[in-house]
Amino acid sequence: MTDARAPEHVVVVGAGMVGLATAWFLQEQGVRVTVVDREGVAAGSSWGNAGWLAPALTLPLPDPAILGMGVKAVINPSSPVYVPVTTNRQLLTFLADFARHCTPKKWRAAMAVFAEANRSALDAFDELTLGGVDASTLPADPFVAAFLSESDRDGLVQEFEHVAEVGGRTEYELVDGAALREIEPALSEQVTHGVLLRGQRFINPGRFVNALAEAVQARGGTMQTATEVVSVEQAGSGVRVTPLHGDVIEADAVVVATGTWLGRLARPHGVKTIVQAGRGYSFFVRPESPPSNPVYFPSQRVACTPIHDADGNPGLRVAGMMEFRRPKAPPDPRRIRAIVDAAAPLLRGVDWDARTNEWVGSRPCTADGLPLVGATKTPGVYVAGGHGMWGIALGPLTGRLLAERVARGSSERLLDSFDPLR
Ligand SMILES: Cc1cc2nc3c(=O)[nH]c(=O)nc-3n(C[C@H](O)[C@H](O)[C@H](O)COP(=O)(O)OP(=O)(O)OC[C@H]3O[C@@H](n4cnc5c(N)ncnc54)[C@H](O)[C@@H]3O)c2cc1C
Repeated sequence: MTDARAPEHVVVVGAGMVGLATAWFLQEQGVRVTVVDREGVAAGSSWGNAGWLAPALTLPLPDPAILGMGVKAVINPSSPVYVPVTTNRQLLTFLADFARHCTPKKWRAAMAVFAEANRSALDAFDELTLGGVDASTLPADPFVAAFLSESDRDGLVQEFEHVAEVGGRTEYELVDGAALREIEPALSEQVTHGVLLRGQRFINPGRFVNALAEAVQARGGTMQTATEVVSVEQAGSGVRVTPLHGDVIEADAVVVATGTWLGRLARPHGVKTIVQAGRGYSFFVRPESPPSNPVYFPSQRVACTPIHDADGNPGLRVAGMMEFRRPKAPPDPRRIRAIVDAAAPLLRGVDWDARTNEWVGSRPCTADGLPLVGATKTPGVYVAGGHGMWGIALGPLTGRLLAERVARGSSERLLDSFDPLR
């Protein structure tokens, strides 16, 4: 694309991490942006998630270990990966395709892509904060993974070895339970083995995404909330974005960044990959000694992040579960109970009944574990989404790569792997 044809005005649909980061990086390219969301900023999964910017753990979701859990385990409501008994055709197609990708060979291929993305994911955050986004990324010093046995820990160590085989780098140290408790006294005596990860960070995701929205507006971007988009289409040399209510917006291009709802607007433009909601839950507790670093319990699939509540009290966001269901299904209290039951033996000094801020959000999952980022078959219509478990960590990098593509037609190797028309 030549400069003469570069877009002047781009509409971004979706004010989550991915949409707003794309809008911010489009502004870096001199493009005027309008961000439209049917609710508001961080109304989707970008709010109550764990906020980990942890390249060491940013790994593909389709994993032979998930398949190894077996059918009996995943239909049990307290299982960390839950699949309801269903006749829903889209879900069955997704699950069959997902299972096909849970092989060591496919995991390695996807991991090679993640390893490349992970190398520059944190740099993209630094560009945002150095460029005026008023929120910080916090160093996890160290990031703690805790286990009830050595054999549980071996699973994570083996995973790091597989990551190294495809060019990823993980800096870690093995420690015992006592050493872990010196770092995080909230860990219980039952924790006997640990891994300390270096070079990881974390954020308060809701706070960060709101700061990003403020920065986009401060730089002249328009934010249009409470506006549900029902279609995007080519119109002349540009695009037309049609909301359910209100005025049509005309622009030179549009980026659909609607998280788990991506398929609705993107499918007419040749994006056939199903984006399935992988719902996760979180809540806030106030341990007597709140950890100052993120704590991960891999065997229980529970993620804990130090965070402050709305009143400024320090505490812990506890998150977990992967529930393949409709995004708008009501929250299931059994999932919260299952997280509490899994985490309670591992943390001490926590009043679990005093938890607040219960939340459910939908990870936008693809069966091959890779995001969908780039051009569709319709000129001027782009998509950015499908990051599954890692849309916070990879959102800014996605925004940078896509903005360069939309504004300058540049092609980066990573975008080939994220091709939405695959
Ligand atoms: C429990 C849990 C823990 C997680 N932990 C982490 C973590 O530690 N690190 C990490 O990297 N990721 C994590 N994730 C994943 C991460 O939250 C998601 O990948 C990320 O938030 C996706 O961002 P997004 O911008 O694509 O989508 P969303 O944040 O869901 O944003 C999509 C937006 O589009 C809007 N929208 C939808 N349809 C329309 C429409 N038709 N018109 C207008 N607007 C529309 C919605 O209102 C929403 O605001 C976690 C997720 C969960 C559930």
